[in-house]
Amino acid sequence: MTKYIFITGGVVSSLGKGMASAAIGSLLQARGYKVRMRKMDPYLNLDPGTMSPYQHGEVFVTEDGAETDLDLGHYERFIDNPCHKTDSISGGRIYYNVLTKERQGEYLGATVQAIPHVTDEIKNFIKSDLTDEDFVLYEIGGTVGDIEGTLFLEAIRQYANEIGKENCLFLHLTLLPYIPTAGELKTKPTQHSVKQLQETGIQPNILLCRSQMMLSESERSKIALFCNISPEDVIIALDADSIYKIPLQYHEEGLDERILHYFKMDTAPKPDLSRWENVISVINNWEHHVNIAVVGKYTSLLEAYKSLNEAICHAGIALKTKVHITWLEADSLEHKTAEQIDDTFKDIHGILVPGGFGNRGIEGKIIAEAYARKHNIPFFGICLGMQTAVIEACRHVLGIANANSTEFTKNCTPVVALMTEWEKDGQKQIRTENTDVGGTMRLGAYPCCLQPGTLASKLYNNAGMIYERHRHRYEVNMEIASKLEEKGFIISGKSPDGILPEIIECKNHPFYIAVQFHPEFKSRAFNAHPIFKGFIQAALQLSSLL
Ligand code: GLN
Repeated sequence: MTKYIFITGGVVSSLGKGMASAAIGSLLQARGYKVRMRKMDPYLNLDPGTMSPYQHGEVFVTEDGAETDLDLGHYERFIDNPCHKTDSISGGRIYYNVLTKERQGEYLGATVQAIPHVTDEIKNFIKSDLTDEDFVLYEIGGTVGDIEGTLFLEAIRQYANEIGKENCLFLHLTLLPYIPTAGELKTKPTQHSVKQLQETGIQPNILLCRSQMMLSESERSKIALFCNISPEDVIIALDADSIYKIPLQYHEEGLDERILHYFKMDTAPKPDLSRWENVISVINNWEHHVNIAVVGKYTSLLEAYKSLNEAICHAGIALKTKVHITWLEADSLEHKTAEQIDDTFKDIHGILVPGGFGNRGIEGKIIAEAYARKHNIPFFGICLGMQTAVIEACRHVLGIANANSTEFTKNCTPVVALMTEWEKDGQKQIRTENTDVGGTMRLGAYPCCLQPGTLASKLYNNAGMIYERHRHRYEVNMEIASKLEEKGFIISGKSPDGILPEIIECKNHPFYIAVQFHPEFKSRAFNAHPIFKGFIQAALQLSSLL
């Protein structure tokens, strides 16, 4: 019978509940179990697709085209199984489903209420689309006590009652703040948070306590006593200097064993953690260093570039190279003199321009892209980074001074424009200027045909066709792309119908590649993405010449 683990958080937000959940999932998986990971976010947006990266961090895109919370990125990176559309839900989607059913008369004249109708809908999500998993982990967004989260807690309480407490485990993540003047860790906030959870009828079975330092046995016993659990179930999650150390730390603290103990499952044999041990041994012994500039739009909140940051790090791990990233806000380049730009990129061995939306910073990205192209600095453009690279090339190579994207201005030669038609699984997708913005982009995995003999084909090991995840509304004009081909560029990747340019390269350049998709979502610490790896390899080559 499938075992359910519900992960809640308390005391403060931003404790890394998603990371903790992913690490727990990976530990169970390392013991040979089939694990599924899911996220319930109580907020009212239907999905995070329309939220600003400053509000919510990165929007993670699944293979099947859902725009989801960035925690699903942690899950995929730690479990290495693709998450599905059905692995994340928001409060908004739950209410939407309930109200849709009400309009369709499905409640047969009943007064529609929070309990049972909304809680039933949450339980439907919990039960839906499972395929014989040994463990399903459900992370509940927000912190205990949030008004929006109340019905989610009520639903998981009911669910545990329905399927039997022996099949459900409640794990609560808290913080033990250290007060330097008192010289001690404080347990009171954890006690309060557990009390609040108990008020909802949920008794946590395991407490995972974030802390800067180890806890004394007497403090552990005190938490156990006040929180109504055994001291062995108070697990300390020490601050880690690398997220990839977390599964190993949790294992040392006995977390996976306590979970199995709760479910009365065998605790032998030990998990195979060699995957993480190998990563850590590289991280502890870097052999090389390179400097990469990321010219972005949301660099003051690095959560906005979560998968990108990880993918760069993964490529470094594959090459035993510590990658030092300089995060540059694109618009900060716009008022710099040529000397100041030289100075900005003086010690930089690779320039990456990531995805983004809207006009701000576009000219700065174009400045960085021109610099990389003209100075033979390895360049990697992603999504918006490909679109702006094309605008740069159109302006400076084809001489179309007012080349631009219709996303930024209507008053231009539109070398990038709104995609109004494309194919998805054999069906035509149609969009107009007036289409709703939520969930209507070209989303998820699409095939891309690679031209043999190109850099892309080499990086992907001569694969003829690849699948990568997309999230964009605008597209490079193929006619313009063909004109660029006459001037030293190559369209090395196209949609199978040949209509959409997916990858652009520059021939006489040590490493210049721009892609319409988001390769960062598929990179893993133990299996770096080939383009990121190629990019860091090229940067390493440049650094050895300087
Ligand atoms: N804003 C661009 C578009 O919608 C690029 C999107 C992105 O970088 N993800 O096409």
